[in-house]
Amino acid sequence: MKCKTCGEKAVVNMTQHKLALCKEHYLEWIPQQTARFIKKYWMFGPDEKILVAVSGGKDSLSLWDILQRLGYNADGMYIGLGIDGGIGYSDESHRLTEKFASERGLKLHVVDIQKEYGQSIPELAALTLRGQGRPCSVCGVTKRHEMNRIAHDLGYDVLATGHNLDDEAAVLFGNTLNWSREYLLRQKPVLPEHDGLARKVKPLCRFYEKEMTAYAMLRGIEYIYDECPFSVGSTSIYYKELLNQLENERPGAKLTFYLNFLDAREKGFFADDVVKVIPPLFNCPTCGQPTMYEGKCSFCRMVEKVKP
Ligand code: SF4
Ligand code: ZN
Ligand code: ZN
Repeated sequence: MKCKTCGEKAVVNMTQHKLALCKEHYLEWIPQQTARFIKKYWMFGPDEKILVAVSGGKDSLSLWDILQRLGYNADGMYIGLGIDGGIGYSDESHRLTEKFASERGLKLHVVDIQKEYGQSIPELAALTLRGQGRPCSVCGVTKRHEMNRIAHDLGYDVLATGHNLDDEAAVLFGNTLNWSREYLLRQKPVLPEHDGLARKVKPLCRFYEKEMTAYAMLRGIEYIYDECPFSVGSTSIYYKELLNQLENERPGAKLTFYLNFLDAREKGFFADDVVKVIPPLFNCPTCGQPTMYEGKCSFCRMVEKVKP
């Protein structure tokens, strides 16, 4: 297989795009495509202050790398969840994120949930869920709250996350199976700013997970290979496996599923429903962040509940 650009030996063959590239041209192609998506979806301009949520994984570190290469003003934020899982998951992901930032002279903000709120994520989950189920709901609410808080308090215009196509397709699949229209309407590459909260963007949403793995490896980014120990057996991993089976039979199926969904919404597929389905957002009287229901947001209710 030869590189489509220079004819040298290709190291990546993307059957879904009918495109094979050598290392040099693949490492150029990913940032070029990212720049194209940033413009296409009006994610941000050259002068905006961007905060990248970094977890120590391949996607978020690659995103930070790409935004730097494209000349954007992007700092990082790492949230210490206090998850060990027998592999020192949080410690190792924190170490790799710090290493990435210091080797490149980048600014990294670190929030440690235990120091901030007195409990780690597994402890918060044990107290609020009383041993029922995995801590992901508590973790998701906390991460979202902290990302909004830091971006707002430090004056960032944009909050960027490293969600890739596999992540987005799995969420879309779950929302479609349940016909969760409210979630379908909110699933976008860009969520506009709201009441002082930063705009949220997903610049990698059109890249397959394997494309991001190839980018991180070819770029020499050291990232945590292990998934969070609590992700094992999750519904989203199950959906990803199902979609991978489909993709193996029909290369490009995942991308078509996601892009046609974005297209359908652009063309007004859901238009009649918008007014009826998207409920107004309220503001939490404690932290000021938006919430779906009147009264305190779920994060503030949780923190109150576990206070000694
Ligand atoms: Fe948090 Fe781990 Fe669950 Fe992800 S898998 S939401 S990091 S607990
Ligand atoms: Zn080439
Ligand atoms: Zn709140």
